[in-house]
Amino acid sequence: MRAQPTAKSARCTACRIPSRRVHGFYWRSLGDVACFGRPILLLIRIRRFRCTIPECPRRTFAETLPGVARLPARQTDRLRSVHRAIGLALSGNPGARHAATLGVPISRSTLLHRVCSSDADPIPPVRVLSVDDWAWLKGSSYGTILCDLERRRVIDLLPDRSADLWRRG
Ligand SMILES: [Zn+2]
Repeated sequence: MRAQPTAKSARCTACRIPSRRVHGFYWRSLGDVACFGRPILLLIRIRRFRCTIPECPRRTFAETLPGVARLPARQTDRLRSVHRAIGLALSGNPGARHAATLGVPISRSTLLHRVCSSDADPIPPVRVLSVDDWAWLKGSSYGTILCDLERRRVIDLLPDRSADLWRRG
């Protein structure tokens, strides 16, 4: 599938000033999620813009694809998320076999790399925190459980109820 961004301008990656002066273009290929069970390759026409600010050290820059793909990734963010989810659920070989049946083939080693990669979705800031007791052994040993109440997720389990952990950060 071929596509191209439609924005009239792009921000310079050095000075952040928008430019409309197109210098050229190149094709960037990105693997994407499957369509009707078939692997999809996006060919995106990326424009290279000329920065018009004389003081800027960058003469030309390529437009980015925020929310679609990071540089220099060869897959869309959503395909990377799908692979990461499959890898977390099934791990290496079973995950690679399942991914192939879903039309998003990936090798076992790349799937494991997706799970361990540092570009995993960042944890959003917690706005509503719950702090409560949590029983390691009911009646005798308690820890502390921290929950994000908005997302209904456990953030951490602390080994005891001491306030020292909070002061240590
Ligand atoms: Zn610039």
